[in-house]
Amino acid sequence: MEEKLIFEISSAGKKGYTLPKLDIQDKKIDKLIPAEYLRESDAELPEVSEPETIRHFINLSIKNHHIDNGFYPLGSCTMKYNPKINEETAKFDGFRRIHPFEDERYVQGALRLMKELEDYLCEILGVEAVSLQPSAGSQGELTGILIARKYFEKMGEKRRKVIIPDSAHGTNPSSVTIGGFNAFQIKSNENGRLDIEEIKRVVDGDTALLMVTNPNTLGIFEEQIFEISKIVHQKGALMYMDGANLNALMGITRPGDMGFDIVHINLHKTFATPHGGGGPGSGPIGVVNKLEPFLPIPRIIKEGDSYSWNYDCPDSIGKVHSFFGNFSVFVKAYTYIRVLGAEGLKNVSKNAIINANYLMKKLEYYFTIPYNDHCMHEFVASGENLKKYGVRTIDIAKRLLDFGFHSPTIYFPLIVKEALMIEPTETESRDTLDLFAEVLIKILEEAKRNPEILRNSPHCTPIKRLDEVKAVRELDVKYEKE
Ligand SMILES: *Cc1c(COP(=O)(O)O)cnc(C)c1O
Repeated sequence: MEEKLIFEISSAGKKGYTLPKLDIQDKKIDKLIPAEYLRESDAELPEVSEPETIRHFINLSIKNHHIDNGFYPLGSCTMKYNPKINEETAKFDGFRRIHPFEDERYVQGALRLMKELEDYLCEILGVEAVSLQPSAGSQGELTGILIARKYFEKMGEKRRKVIIPDSAHGTNPSSVTIGGFNAFQIKSNENGRLDIEEIKRVVDGDTALLMVTNPNTLGIFEEQIFEISKIVHQKGALMYMDGANLNALMGITRPGDMGFDIVHINLHKTFATPHGGGGPGSGPIGVVNKLEPFLPIPRIIKEGDSYSWNYDCPDSIGKVHSFFGNFSVFVKAYTYIRVLGAEGLKNVSKNAIINANYLMKKLEYYFTIPYNDHCMHEFVASGENLKKYGVRTIDIAKRLLDFGFHSPTIYFPLIVKEALMIEPTETESRDTLDLFAEVLIKILEEAKRNPEILRNSPHCTPIKRLDEVKAVRELDVKYEKE
């Protein structure tokens, strides 16, 4: 089942192309390109025929696990089915063939699509302005942090502290640090939520932001968020929401209504565009009125029926992406929103929550689920009590591959030992959820009776258990010809 490297199937003289006869005067390459830019020896390129090339890449492609061939409950990543109509609209010639340098007058449709997408997102998020420019959730975070920095500069205030609970996504402290603030971590309470007393204690005049993932990485909704926003605002600080988990909230509640001033979302999660090796992403950022002047440039403006770019925004943080962001993702997200409509989006979130709670209930008799009162779109189980059989969470993750399932996210969040973070999403049927639960329970039985099976898994994949320690310590990704 193993697929050789393309260099291993290469042999000198094989060709995968034919070129027409040269009908201009032949010139040596060193007459066209200055010698200093030329290679001293030939590039080592594989030489393979056209059918060999096709087979090689097709064989590789079918080895991948992806959402179109199996369940993918990777917590926090929202690996849901991406409707194929999104790809159809993104392929329209009028979208696919335009160039970012084209005159505004000739790309009015594209600008209109972006403006309307901004408006829809404003409505969904309950904010006053959105920029589509950032190309990932983490870049949206950084953009939001830079907006906050510019805001406080403008106010003539030097605030350094950004408060982040230990249930936050790992990208949060990193964005804060790169954005020039100090990340200040606080502990969640025994319910896995923000501790309002602790917030009162730590929010002070040096606090720029409280940065909250809601629902948090335990899949739990912050019920006191409105009161918490008030406390933070009273101290002149801003509220930032990591909205990458918006899949649980659409049409049910809005970050703006909870008191957030800045929020980023992931179009490539909630709004159904392929990700995780499947394509470019997009992490739009939404803000309340007073922060709009700081958004990245250019901004789209609509006057009557015509759309144009506005670069004249003196307080803007500048650009965070070449041109205007990842346009094809906008088309897919726009399509998704238009196809589903308001009621459809609300049902997405309701079903995401129902599916996660259904699976949690099925599993709670077998696994420890430390924070299990009621989850949103995901929940976190612990593999801690398998240790007595000499089995760890990673062994469960590897064994799942033998049954055709992608593993849940493991060892995250850090506040749950031996964590398995499971996000089924709304697009899975009850049959799939039942089967997944059945398989997990079977794996648990194996752990008791025959832990070796788990420790040596996977058994049915082309590549078996890798030595991950060796891969980290002796990383070598270069192919050397023998
Ligand atoms: C996925 C995710 C991010 C990061 O988004 P990227 O697009 O991967 O950079 C941030 N926060 C949360 C809660 C996420 O789930």
